[in-house]
Amino acid sequence: MKLPSFDISAEEIKKNSAKIISDAQKRFDHIGSLKQSQRSFQNTVAAFDQIEADVEDQLNILVILQQASPHSTLRESAEHAVNELQRYLDVDIYSQQSLYTALSSCKDKTLSSAEEKVLSKKLLKFKHNGFGLSEKKQNEVLMLKKQLIQEELEFSKNIRECSDELWLTNEELKGLEDNFISSLEQKNGKYRLTMAYPHVTPVMAHAVAAKIRKKVQSTFLNRAREKNLPLLDDILHKRRQLAEKLNHDHYADYILEDRMAKNAATVVSFLDDLQKKFQPRIIGEIQKILDMKQKDFPNAREVEDWDIGYYATRYKNFHFDLDEQKLKSYFPLEHVTTAAFELFKKLFGIEMKEVKEEKKMKGRKAWHKEVELFEVKDTATREILGHFYLDLFPRPGKYSHAAIFPLYEGRRLADGTYQLPACVMFANFSRPTASSPSLLTPGEVKTYFHEFGHILHLLCSRQEYRQLSGYRVAWDFVEVPSQIMENWFYEPESLKLVSKHYETGKPLSDEMIRRMIAAKDTFPALNYSRQVMLSKLNHLYHTEKKVDTTALLKQLWKEIRGIPMPEGTHFQASFGHLIGYAAAYYSYLWSRVFSEDLFTRFQSEGVLNAHVGMELRKKILEPGASEDELVLVENFLGRTSNNKAFFKSIGLV
Ligand SMILES: [Zn+2]
Repeated sequence: MKLPSFDISAEEIKKNSAKIISDAQKRFDHIGSLKQSQRSFQNTVAAFDQIEADVEDQLNILVILQQASPHSTLRESAEHAVNELQRYLDVDIYSQQSLYTALSSCKDKTLSSAEEKVLSKKLLKFKHNGFGLSEKKQNEVLMLKKQLIQEELEFSKNIRECSDELWLTNEELKGLEDNFISSLEQKNGKYRLTMAYPHVTPVMAHAVAAKIRKKVQSTFLNRAREKNLPLLDDILHKRRQLAEKLNHDHYADYILEDRMAKNAATVVSFLDDLQKKFQPRIIGEIQKILDMKQKDFPNAREVEDWDIGYYATRYKNFHFDLDEQKLKSYFPLEHVTTAAFELFKKLFGIEMKEVKEEKKMKGRKAWHKEVELFEVKDTATREILGHFYLDLFPRPGKYSHAAIFPLYEGRRLADGTYQLPACVMFANFSRPTASSPSLLTPGEVKTYFHEFGHILHLLCSRQEYRQLSGYRVAWDFVEVPSQIMENWFYEPESLKLVSKHYETGKPLSDEMIRRMIAAKDTFPALNYSRQVMLSKLNHLYHTEKKVDTTALLKQLWKEIRGIPMPEGTHFQASFGHLIGYAAAYYSYLWSRVFSEDLFTRFQSEGVLNAHVGMELRKKILEPGASEDELVLVENFLGRTSNNKAFFKSIGLV
């Protein structure tokens, strides 16, 4: 069992990265120096994949420290090393002529379809680094890429390190639970509200005073504004230049070359169609909110963005008698975790168990004392499938969303043994308080399930090459396993399993479950049109020749959401997915078409049907990126995929 060590000093990090690179380069040089007659797929392409993976394994550890170490000096030196290693992986390796020649010469060999996939993915990366262009142009491409890596890291760092906060009085926090208020730091009669999700979300849903919701939302939407607005302009400009030099119309086309959607026109028509379908429904939803608002303020004429969460909560309370603050009592984190594991065992034949003993961890400490390590086993064969870490509570300087970061991807090592996958889940749930354990809102449970879907994908994929692991599917398919997991949260059978009141020990009653499912999407058009807006924003930022990022956001907000963007806000400055997803934020909606379609089999054959669960594991998760994504979907469904279930799930039927 190989597990990473996070016990590294800032000094060691500095020293190590140069050595990691020089060791790898020696091995790459060897590949480049082979004679054509000696060359095979194994000693060239597979060996290339091994070296890259070895570097990336080390990089991944540093990324975790950069994202979540409690020590700012460690975060900083990790950031520096991440920049260097990322540059080496993305630019330096893929700009070496000898390696390009070596890999290209393998094209003529007889290859299996998996081998062909590995090779073609690598050759595309060479092409994206300017191979085939003049030397001058290629150098410009490489320079732009290096600068972009640095600027993109900085953009993410500015969001992570943002420490904006508000100090509010008890009166200003009216509507929020005592439990919540007493969990906040207190000074001179005021309470400290950070911009972490467990602080912001409850205020937006429950604070009675509209001007407080407005103030909190405005602070939240302006995070990292000073530093990131000019930086974003620069990043978009460089991406534009890069795409042009690589003979693409724009950066979106460059990004989409290896996605399911393939080109910008497909993405635009996908989003336009959704926008058109949502439009009439949004008007109705806004009217419902306005009616409620006018009961509070008879003179109100408009719905503001900061009204939506609050009135959606009131709407649920009134029409479904569902109080989210009370519902939380049914979802203590510890029980939800155990129940989720039960569910996965039933469905996928895997067991997840915490690794507690120091001995088993081989004395290897995680990056923070709250982090827990788990081992995943196949129930039938008792074979270990991999490991994951949970880091679930907010801390200053820690990654502020929920996400999975890979540590190791499954692959065959040079010595013939199989490297088991491992990954990390970051989330930012509410901490336990003096009077209660950590309790999750239904939305947080959904997020938790979502992230477990990513873990399952990474841990269940069984491929020989890293290039074909579950993490490497087309980026607009990557959310399929995570989104399908969300569905179990809205099924009566699984809700019974997952809920357990932290005081009474009772699950949700049938009646409450019925109401919860009925209230699943209170305002689906407003909810999903936000996704459409963000997808379009991402897309247009990367297709327009020149763009005023704030003006465009403001225009789309009004046009697609039907309500004005909160004046003076700049959400784009803290929109982290502009980096990771670049022009491809549409992937969330796109993936949902397939995840909903896949789930129809569970709906018709039983949501806890172990046979269908195992098929999902074998036909979708295990193949990873070794097969065309559409083929995987059709193998599982036994028919061609369609968007009926998707439209139904987003309230469009
Ligand atoms: Zn996800």
